[in-house]
Amino acid sequence: MGRYIGPVCRLCRREGVKLYLKGERCFGPKCPIVKRHPNKNYPPGQHGPVQRAARRPSEFALQLREKQKLKRIYGILERQFRRHFQEAERRPGLTGDNLLQILESRLDNVVYRLGFADSRRQARQLVRHGHFLVNGRKTDIPSFLVRPGDIIAVRPESRRREYFKVLEETAKNKAVPDWLSRDLETMSGRVLRLPTREEIDIPAVNTQLVVEYYSRR
Ligand code: SF4
Repeated sequence: MGRYIGPVCRLCRREGVKLYLKGERCFGPKCPIVKRHPNKNYPPGQHGPVQRAARRPSEFALQLREKQKLKRIYGILERQFRRHFQEAERRPGLTGDNLLQILESRLDNVVYRLGFADSRRQARQLVRHGHFLVNGRKTDIPSFLVRPGDIIAVRPESRRREYFKVLEETAKNKAVPDWLSRDLETMSGRVLRLPTREEIDIPAVNTQLVVEYYSRR
């Protein structure tokens, strides 16, 4: 599956909010959303300043922006995102909540939530490079959906790498959500259950508008 390889801060500037795509940097003064003078916080591109001055956005534009925001937070391109949406529709309950639950249960997101990576982008790379086991089996598919009871662990060979040696110390400061448990001694984590809507800590996204976006086509 493809992934976006362009400048990521541009994505935040497009949405006009911090999407926290870069790990530590997002919390510092170098974040362009913080650094830029308020008058220069317009969307990226040649027509950015004009777009900011444009008239009130249409209903479709609002739906599109919310969908794009959610896709970008989780670092997914359209085809895969749409597939997750279709799965969310199939499950019982509210489609918007189901969608968030599916996105949270992606393996790259779980690695990030366990504190084994600074960002979902980094987590995705670590997974792709085969550093993780799910229930003892090497799993290098970032979109793999974990289930309650699954155990995610750093591969024993990978633990010898400098990155994971340092991580044993630094990950201590990273909190783990209630639906997961982590054991830094064994560099592993367990999925206790799937998260509820309230437990999903992401920048504000109106999932109802995302559902409306896909309902109209
Ligand atoms: Fe860049 Fe992070 Fe700031 Fe977004 S929140 S603009 S990714 S530094």
